[in-house]
Amino acid sequence: MSNCDFNRPCNCRDCRTVYDTIICPICSFSNVVVIERNAFYETDRKGISGYRFETPDEVLDLTCFKCGYVIKEVGYYTELYQEGCVLNILKATALEHGKVCASCKKVEGFDYFSGYGEAKLQNHNGELLCQECLGQTLMRQIPDPSNENEKYEFDKRKLSWILKKIKIECVDCGRKRWVNTENRWKTRCITCFKNMVK
Ligand SMILES: [Zn+2]
Ligand SMILES: [Zn+2]
Ligand SMILES: [Zn+2]
Ligand SMILES: [Zn+2]
Repeated sequence: MSNCDFNRPCNCRDCRTVYDTIICPICSFSNVVVIERNAFYETDRKGISGYRFETPDEVLDLTCFKCGYVIKEVGYYTELYQEGCVLNILKATALEHGKVCASCKKVEGFDYFSGYGEAKLQNHNGELLCQECLGQTLMRQIPDPSNENEKYEFDKRKLSWILKKIKIECVDCGRKRWVNTENRWKTRCITCFKNMVK
């Protein structure tokens, strides 16, 4: 939803438009269509005004973008979304060429991870895996080197176990405690540190 009218939908083209996918029964292609709805300005019983959107009742046929088959009575749409269809054709081609994660089926160049971008495939023992699935696999395959004095965590970006916490003895009281590796210079426990600075 766009935020033209103080984050509430208005009757501009952006707010009225939605997209839908129509699968061809012959070639299984995902046709993307644009649906421009009608907007009605209304006030409800509580006195709150706003736009209500309605898709026209008209039922149309759609010619499949990929194979040309006429799909009967798909409902209403304003037009075929060319760019969306071209993208789906390219994605289907990438799939046919095996550019797909063997585990989660993400397609390289087309599927994304929120936060760290595009799915990138790597060969692992003859299997193509995206970075996320490769991380999961390596985490299971490489043993966790943690022991009673060191705690490791698996870093999915570096694809290895990283030392996170170590157990060190307080130089004053001798009590052992866990500290994050970046705090290894803190040679006293909190209690002894407070006593020292008093
Ligand atoms: Zn708007
Ligand atoms: Zn088709
Ligand atoms: Zn994957
Ligand atoms: Zn201490």
